[in-house]
Amino acid sequence: MTTDSNFAATSSAQKYECPCCNYVYDPDLGEPKEGFAAGTPFADIPDDWECPDCGVRDKVDFEPVA
Ligand SMILES: [Zn+2]
Repeated sequence: MTTDSNFAATSSAQKYECPCCNYVYDPDLGEPKEGFAAGTPFADIPDDWECPDCGVRDKVDFEPVA
């Protein structure tokens, strides 16, 4: 374990949840099957990206997870 600033930033990455199917995008994990490597911030995902689970909701519909 380390307490350097990189670790702190990674561990506090904001997760986003699909309001339709409750899929959660976790920047720490990314979504490799969608082409987003672990560590990809939600902000770096294209606006026209669709939820990989339900395919109904777009990125703009996702809500921050408290
Ligand atoms: Zn969904």
